[in-house]
Amino acid sequence: TLILGIETSCDETAAAVIARDGAGRGDILSNVVLSQLREHAPYGGVVPEIAARAHVTHLDRLVAQAMRESGLDYKDLDAVAATAGPGLLGGVIVGLTMAKAIAFAHGRPLMAVNHLEGHALTARLLHPVEFPYLLLLISGGHTQFQMVEGVGKYHRLGTTIDDALGEAFDKVAKLLGLGYPGGPQVEALARRGDASRFAFPRPLKGRKDCNFSFSGLKTAVRETVQDLMTLSDQDVADVCASFEAAVAETMADRLKMAVHLFRAAHPQVRAPALIVAGGVAANQKLKAVFEAAAAQHGLQLIVPPAKLCTDNAAMIAWAGAERLALGLTDPLDFAARARWPLDQAQAPVYGSGK
Ligand code: ATP
Ligand code: MG
Ligand code: FE
Repeated sequence: TLILGIETSCDETAAAVIARDGAGRGDILSNVVLSQLREHAPYGGVVPEIAARAHVTHLDRLVAQAMRESGLDYKDLDAVAATAGPGLLGGVIVGLTMAKAIAFAHGRPLMAVNHLEGHALTARLLHPVEFPYLLLLISGGHTQFQMVEGVGKYHRLGTTIDDALGEAFDKVAKLLGLGYPGGPQVEALARRGDASRFAFPRPLKGRKDCNFSFSGLKTAVRETVQDLMTLSDQDVADVCASFEAAVAETMADRLKMAVHLFRAAHPQVRAPALIVAGGVAANQKLKAVFEAAAAQHGLQLIVPPAKLCTDNAAMIAWAGAERLALGLTDPLDFAARARWPLDQAQAPVYGSGK
């Protein structure tokens, strides 16, 4: 199966072509991503109108490039997949409409993919990961544990009740006068900092669920920064290190609860896979936490490479391929969705051959 995928739900314009063989193995034939970081950097975050316009400007060229690099012609494709939500509606409409036009022009089925399902299934593009598995998605817009039971079958174990984790990194960076996106800079500075200097809170620690909360932590950082008044380079590094330590400890605690819930639901699975996806998965300190937790709880840890963890179109094409293999396709009038929880991932089904 050969699938073209398109991703435009946030600040990355992306197109990719993937192949999936009969045994369910994946292959990336092309994967091009244009990040709009520079367009949004001056505002310290993603500006929806700027994002939508940038998608309009660049998507044509990126799709053509992805097709060219794949060495395929449109008539070789089995389906065209695009993110249909959740995300910034203006951007989602740009990519979904492009996919509809290509699908219609070449008489191929449309796959309207839930962006989160793309993140959830990416690991299977590279590894023979069996269902069910535990997914931790940590990005700029999402922070959640999902129990992945199968394609289209998700059960959310916990989510953030306020900020997403990437957002928390970005806000802390902003408080410290660092650039956007903040995660990589906070991580780099934390290496030179003293993690024990500031006792930031460990949100929701010990609670018997696996939800997250980061706004209190962010407020504690803000108050600390205000108390310091002038920030030396060492102060900034110490705040970064102390913040990262609080996040790491919180993650270890929440992960313990998630594993507990997963085990209760699937006692027969001996060494379940733990997949960590999203841009924050690039953080090395957190990766060490996940490795320690995997060893302690008997999990098989898989962190896909950064290029597939952050927003990309290969994961959208792959989710489309997985759904097509089950005979699931979507109608050309499928409407873009700003909100679309993963545990309601199943889009209205118009199965082929039914
Ligand atoms: P979505 O939530 O829709 O997937 P997004 O574009 O915000 O969207 P990603 O591109 O997956 O998410 O990730 C970006 C986020 O990851 C940013 O908030 C960024 O600060 C954070 N991030 C990137 N690298 C690191 C790092 N090394 N440490 C911590 N956070 C990081
Ligand atoms: Mg992004
Ligand atoms: Fe994403």
